[in-house]
Amino acid sequence: MSKCDVTIIGAGPYGLSAAAHLRTIAGLDVRLFGKPMSFWERNMPMGMFLRSGWDATHIADPAHALTLEAFQASSGNPFSKPVPLDRFVQYGQWYQRQALPDLDQREIVRIEASPKGFRVTLEDGESFYSHRVVVAAGIHPFAWRPPEFANLDPALASHSSQHRDLRRFAGQQVLVIGSGQSALESAALLYEAGAASEVAARAQHIHWLQGWASTTLHRRLGNIVRNLLYAPTDVGPAGISQLMARPDLLRKLPRRLQDKLRKRAVRPAGSRWLVKRLENVPIRLGRSIASVASIGERLKVRFDDGSERNVQHVLLGTGYSVDISKYPFLARELVQSIGRVNGYPILQAGLETSVAGLHILGAPAAWSFGPLLQFVSGTHFASRALVRRIAGETAT
Ligand SMILES: Cc1cc2nc3c(=O)[nH]c(=O)nc-3n(C[C@H](O)[C@H](O)[C@H](O)COP(=O)(O)OP(=O)(O)OC[C@H]3O[C@@H](n4cnc5c(N)ncnc54)[C@H](O)[C@@H]3O)c2cc1C
Repeated sequence: MSKCDVTIIGAGPYGLSAAAHLRTIAGLDVRLFGKPMSFWERNMPMGMFLRSGWDATHIADPAHALTLEAFQASSGNPFSKPVPLDRFVQYGQWYQRQALPDLDQREIVRIEASPKGFRVTLEDGESFYSHRVVVAAGIHPFAWRPPEFANLDPALASHSSQHRDLRRFAGQQVLVIGSGQSALESAALLYEAGAASEVAARAQHIHWLQGWASTTLHRRLGNIVRNLLYAPTDVGPAGISQLMARPDLLRKLPRRLQDKLRKRAVRPAGSRWLVKRLENVPIRLGRSIASVASIGERLKVRFDDGSERNVQHVLLGTGYSVDISKYPFLARELVQSIGRVNGYPILQAGLETSVAGLHILGAPAAWSFGPLLQFVSGTHFASRALVRRIAGETAT
């Protein structure tokens, strides 16, 4: 059976960036698997715009050459801010062709520990050993559905990640649950597609980003003060943003403070540019779901304030809840030997789990390194940390 030094699972922003960085280590045999940018291409709605700002949307590469600007120049087709989803997908695929043309698009179906290293099995049955494994497989298996919706027909209730094209709901009454970007943008896209969309959420009010007060204040403060308050990574509000951009510092704080800051940095919020698009979409806040019942081809949703909605579909913009035991390719015994907290792996330097040689990047790394790791802008930190760890080992 063949053997390699490092296997990377997933060709989204984290896997691409990790592979491009690790390839700079002389003599290291790195193999990257997965369909490039497939989560963004298949599990986000057409017409979506990225919430992250331009500077926070480059996928890190070692030479700082594969930026959004470089992609624009090479495609000869400039695009606006906020970055449209389809252009971001094309950017990631361009990045892959430039830096990693030998990507293997096969799916990895199993990773297990063995005395010869990790045994990796591909969808077609091929197996090989790998000294290290880097999991950069994203959040798709972690889509969270409130228990009331767990056993309902997906034709009546579905998670936002199940849709690529919301135009299929044209002419229908659709209730969107949630108050974050995904729920709000889905409601806007549904309305624009001709559905009668409405939003319901537990939150008492919606947090709009880049509000009038903050925009005016920041304009008055000027670039120098703004740059002191906000890191280019664009995660978290003024001041906190700088701390979130430094995961190694954040990690040194007491756990309770880390948790508090993390919650504050990534609370559900909507981009300011959605406000106008939601003018005609009813938004009902401060209510939790009490019960759900299907009546023929409709759903009756009752809330804890006694109100009821009777709709043709419920779209769950309820986010993701990390639990690495849900990665279908990780052997059960392997998962059990990884130190975990609430589904998150406990990671050391180099984003390495308690199983030596097994690294996990992206959102599952957020418990250890903070919410930066949930976003594209965290690829800079993650890839450099990985290179430091692996290059260090190679050197010794
Ligand atoms: C609706 C929505 C909007 C978002 N908007 C933003 C935004 O504006 N800015 C931002 O920074 N972040 C945004 N995010 C967060 C975004 O998901 C992450 O920033 C980003 O996807 C993290 O990259 P990743 O490489 O960890 O995961 P992914 O992009 O999900 O990539 C993981 C890849 O692994 C592959 N894979 C999984 N299992 C296997 C396997 N067994 N074998 C081979 N390949 C496998 C998948 O196919 C996938 O391509 C958004 C998320 C959602 C849901």
